[in-house]
Amino acid sequence: MVEPIKIADIPVMPFESVEHVLSHVFSEADSIKPGVAIAINPEKILKSLECEQVKHILLNATVQYADGIGVVKAMEKKSGKKLQRIPGVELWLEVVKKASENNGSVYLVGAKPEVSEKAEQKLIDQFNINIAGRSDGYFKDRSELIGNIIQSKADVVIVALGSPKQEAFIDECKKQHPNAFYMGVGGSLDVLVGNVERAPEAWCKYNLEWLYRLLKEPTRLKRQIKLLKFVYLYLRGRL
Ligand code: UDP
Repeated sequence: MVEPIKIADIPVMPFESVEHVLSHVFSEADSIKPGVAIAINPEKILKSLECEQVKHILLNATVQYADGIGVVKAMEKKSGKKLQRIPGVELWLEVVKKASENNGSVYLVGAKPEVSEKAEQKLIDQFNINIAGRSDGYFKDRSELIGNIIQSKADVVIVALGSPKQEAFIDECKKQHPNAFYMGVGGSLDVLVGNVERAPEAWCKYNLEWLYRLLKEPTRLKRQIKLLKFVYLYLRGRL
């Protein structure tokens, strides 16, 4: 049993690898357990301090994993141990592959229409994923989409709407379709189809993936500047 480490009241599991997360997500018989996996990063921690709804969502997830070097550093400071970042962009693909291998089906929600379509095709062609249904992220009627997800009986629901939209969607959908495993994946469908490039390995190795992304998408600067508050709280030992 892994003991979570609390960062600003949010329990985050110190997973050692993607495989380690999978062992929590799947039962011993390899079927996926209903629940919600949430990537915890500095942006979400700061939002949880300002917004009760975000805090409630983060607290109610069943698998909180550290996907943000700032969160890993804060956990290392608290535990005195060297820990690992779990990139959500890798984890979700392993989750859907393993679920499909064990006869689970996957519903895809999010991203632009052409990205969503290409992502579905790639998941079928390359990874043999069992797709239960799909919707791009610019749907008009949320209740109708949730109705379709319920009808599809999807075992896994992947939601790529960005934060905190995707967490709010998951919270709503889970109430009506509780026997599924949910995962918010941000821009991961764009990465899967090659619309957005992941940082080269060397940048990842030195924990500079965030900087690479910022250089590629300078419009993210405003979002990144806000994260200085996380650094401040970290340095003052207030996380
Ligand atoms: N998106 C969407 N519907 C919306 C807003 C965003 O489907 O109403 C998608 C967008 O096309 C992109 C993803 O959500 O694929 C957001 O990616 P981003 O990298 O901003 O998310 P992050 O991982 O930073 O939360």
